[in-house]
Amino acid sequence: MTRTRDRLDLAKPAPLVDGFARKISYLRLSVTDRCDLRCTYCMPERMQFLPRKEVLSLEELYKLSLGFIERGVSKIRITGGEPLVRRDIIDLFQSLGRKLGDGLDELTLTTNGTQLSEHADALARAGVKRINISLDTLDRARFETLSRRDALPKVLEGIAAAKEAGLKVKLNTVAMKGVNEDELPDLIAWAHGQGHDLTLIEVMPLGEVDEDRVDHFLPLSDVRDRLAKRWTLTPSDKDSGGPARYDRVEETGGMLGMITPLTNNFCAGCNRIRVTATGQLYPCLGGGERVDLRAALRSDAPEANLVKALAEAMHIKPERHHFDISKRGAQPAQPRHMSVTGG
Ligand code: SAM
Ligand code: SF4
Repeated sequence: MTRTRDRLDLAKPAPLVDGFARKISYLRLSVTDRCDLRCTYCMPERMQFLPRKEVLSLEELYKLSLGFIERGVSKIRITGGEPLVRRDIIDLFQSLGRKLGDGLDELTLTTNGTQLSEHADALARAGVKRINISLDTLDRARFETLSRRDALPKVLEGIAAAKEAGLKVKLNTVAMKGVNEDELPDLIAWAHGQGHDLTLIEVMPLGEVDEDRVDHFLPLSDVRDRLAKRWTLTPSDKDSGGPARYDRVEETGGMLGMITPLTNNFCAGCNRIRVTATGQLYPCLGGGERVDLRAALRSDAPEANLVKALAEAMHIKPERHHFDISKRGAQPAQPRHMSVTGG
């Protein structure tokens, strides 16, 4: 990627602070809405992907990121869709990696792991230190049912490659009633045995899928109660600055995180914003508020228009989300899928 014209010289860069005095320091940047899996809770089998011309170029993604770094964003997570299916994505990691220590403290990604065996070394060389990998089951047939692809061996290979490359791995598991509920202790024990922390996530009502998610909604408070009968869970003060709450599992020595957007509200300390692959800034995962950064970026006066757009984003970031998964057959809380907004 070229390094010319790469500075978005935003006039008098000031930190991004929203209307509730929350400083925004964490950008989750989706680089594609496409994916090589079709997890049933995430997207329908026949997912309509965006036309490629609507998606920001790698150059545009880089420029936008620089603009955010200048406004005080110190952590960037690359996500999707599946970020590693985007062609030449390693170029973006390399370019952003050069900002580490120069405004950027952390560059990371969330991946399904299928392409990781090819890219783990390059990611580590680019300066990535920690990585989130999604893993909902260790059973090959169940993985195929859940993701509609027979890809568990590739994912396990990817997890091993990440460890080999020296990346600190955290596994993310969506906990689902009647799907992987019975397997959660085994998954946690396996992850901790491999030296990886694991975070459980409640399924969220984002985008239409081919099933009713209420059937699979599993409150993590119940899961924690059950796990506490098997293991000693000691609440930890580890704070990721994010929505996860952590316990140390004394018997395994590993950390167990829980993200409970539906049974707990985690918005008060929210420091993050999300930008989709088409440059739409969503200040809240669970809200419809949106600002079009692509229009600003492609306008005649990109610098000035981006300053305006970011001011607007800070103004409209809501105080909290309003997820509700309790009603059978209800419309999703948001029509856009997690794969579009970036998980
Ligand atoms: N493809 C990558 C992956 O799977 O890790 C990155 C994007 S994916 C959208 C990010 C995370 O969102 C994954 O851990 C996935 O399990 C989670 N996810 C997707 N849809 C979800 C939903 N409706 N509720 C809760 N988590 C969801
Ligand atoms: Fe793809 Fe990740 Fe969604 Fe699964 S959760 S379909 S891997 S974007």
